[in-house]
Amino acid sequence: MIDAALAAATRHLADVSDTPRLDAELLMAHALGVERDALLLRHLDAEAPEEFEALVERRMTHEPVAYITGMRGFWTIELAVGPGALIPRADSETLIEAAIEHFGARAPSTILDLGTGPGTLLLAALDQWPKATGLGVDGSEAALGYARVNARRLGMADRAEFVLGDWAAGVEGRFDLILCNPPYVGIGEAIGEDVRRFEPPSALFAGADGLDAYRRIIPDLRRLLTPGGAAVIEIGWTQAEAVCGLALDQGFSPRARNDLGGRPRAVLLT
Ligand code: GLN
Repeated sequence: MIDAALAAATRHLADVSDTPRLDAELLMAHALGVERDALLLRHLDAEAPEEFEALVERRMTHEPVAYITGMRGFWTIELAVGPGALIPRADSETLIEAAIEHFGARAPSTILDLGTGPGTLLLAALDQWPKATGLGVDGSEAALGYARVNARRLGMADRAEFVLGDWAAGVEGRFDLILCNPPYVGIGEAIGEDVRRFEPPSALFAGADGLDAYRRIIPDLRRLLTPGGAAVIEIGWTQAEAVCGLALDQGFSPRARNDLGGRPRAVLLT
């Protein structure tokens, strides 16, 4: 029975995961080909599908649930993800919230996402502002492959363009909103086992102090922003002061914004 299989898997997964019950439910829903709510409402008395055990065994090697199921929810959208693309994190929704607060009743019409990965921030923003168009840049073809698939699946292919690039080098034009979740982990800093073993290092690590990507990106932002526009950049929770300093050097008025855990997660530059 599914109920018992979930209970057993939860005990097993507690060795590798902080969210063993959730992981078990997501893997079971994937094995059944149903949504998690449908699983919980309707299927608990059914026979557990045979594939479930193999999915749990993959998770036991620290493979992230999102790579096993191939999908991850972010903001109002579902994104296809897999090896080579950074998995969207709930923390990054802080950037969308900061952008919404900045624009208020207005809406950005052009959006740039630097380091878009599987299209995470750009596609969430295009869902938020249905008349906007956007450009997503990434240094990884693998990540861009997912981004293009996601734009098509979400019906946004005509509003989202994705290009291979080195941050803002080669990007022309101006944008009302620039979003950016760059790598910001310092080399040698501790990161979760799932992340370390499976996610792309180029999306995570940025030099000895984790600030290398900001040093590359922030000097380009002014020329890319329209008047009244804003850039919102994700930061590690200890980096607010350093990143605000880099922004001040470029003549911005930076403001840090906390995530749901109450720690600084984004810096808004105007
Ligand atoms: N927040 C991510 C992690 O610690 C890091 C992502 C990033 O460097 N942009 O897993």
